[in-house]
Amino acid sequence: MYKETLVLHADHDWVKKDGTVAPAIYYSSTFPAQDSAEFAEMASKPLHSQYYTRYGNPVHERVKAIMAELEGTETALVTGSGMGAIATTLLALVSAGDHVIAQTRHYMSTTKIMDEMLPRFGVEVSIVEQTDLTAFEAAIRPNTKLIMLETPANPTLVLTDIAAVTELAKKHGILVVADNTFASPLNQRPHDLGVDVVVHSATKYLGGHSDITAGVICTSHNLAEMIWDTHTSIGSVLSPMDAWLLLRGLRTLPVRMERINSNALVLAEFLENQEEIENVYYPGLVSHPQHELALKQMKGGYGSVIAFAVKGDYAATQRFVSALNLSLNAVSLGGVESLVVHTAAMWEGALNEEQMKTAGIPPNFVRYSVGLEHIEDLKADVLQALKVL
Ligand SMILES: *Cc1c(COP(=O)(O)O)cnc(C)c1O
Repeated sequence: MYKETLVLHADHDWVKKDGTVAPAIYYSSTFPAQDSAEFAEMASKPLHSQYYTRYGNPVHERVKAIMAELEGTETALVTGSGMGAIATTLLALVSAGDHVIAQTRHYMSTTKIMDEMLPRFGVEVSIVEQTDLTAFEAAIRPNTKLIMLETPANPTLVLTDIAAVTELAKKHGILVVADNTFASPLNQRPHDLGVDVVVHSATKYLGGHSDITAGVICTSHNLAEMIWDTHTSIGSVLSPMDAWLLLRGLRTLPVRMERINSNALVLAEFLENQEEIENVYYPGLVSHPQHELALKQMKGGYGSVIAFAVKGDYAATQRFVSALNLSLNAVSLGGVESLVVHTAAMWEGALNEEQMKTAGIPPNFVRYSVGLEHIEDLKADVLQALKVL
């Protein structure tokens, strides 16, 4: 089935069960059994959809069915946020004495887990340059349990060669987890390239309307059962209403991604031609240092996020961002509306000076997440804002 069709029909079983066209919202924390024998069965079964909502909920089931199809995995789990998905996955899969390999650039909170949290629990973490395959290889130890990937990654949309890393990992029996948020399953399918667990912040493209926080974990039945067991204790639960909004978002994901991909590529090329701009980073640009790799592993397109450096200092960059009228100055990405942030301003509160340096964030960096506005309006807005530099 094509993606456009499966986002509408992969949860078909529930249409029959509910007897409604729009999905029913099961706003119930707990579900009754018919009799005590059925209760005993429900209580002992993993991944149950109608026992207690922290364990599962029918609306979660519908999201799971669609996400597993989109990522090409056996099954999926849903969580209350992207960080809920990442933290739960990591805590489920690693133990004291294990070693983890992660990238120099990750989503900020993932970096915090790697730098500060896992070491507190006796897990060793090596941080490697993600563009250097030999760095991954050199970091492998006898106790390496897991490699964490994220591609493309902030702030310069740098890529990791997913297939090359998973090949290396398979040789050593290491699990690979990939954060596929920045690409979306429409543009990149890490499981097809050998990744064991694909995680998402569904807050971004999947929900797509900047109204919920949610997370998804796509993986095999075996790993899902293990991760679910930890999930029920961690308690990063998606509310039935937010699961319903996520489901609504997923219905239009393919058409939104198509427009987002084309808008962003056009805007990136346009920015590259403006003399007030120093550099543009977008995997779809021929000038991106890893464009060849992008063509290989990002089959559908390159997503909404464009990073660029303006010609100017911190204050000039602030002026430029403030002068944009259409894109709201807000964190996040992948919604229907364009958003923009001054990258250094976003991270200076959370990262220390050294972490900022490692993450490679200069003062004149801007991150723009392109929405569904008409591209000519977006171009005109950027053009007028560049005049304040
Ligand atoms: C937003 C984001 C997260 C965190 O997701 P939340 O839903 O905000 O918890 C993780 N990884 C990436 C790449 C993100 O963009």
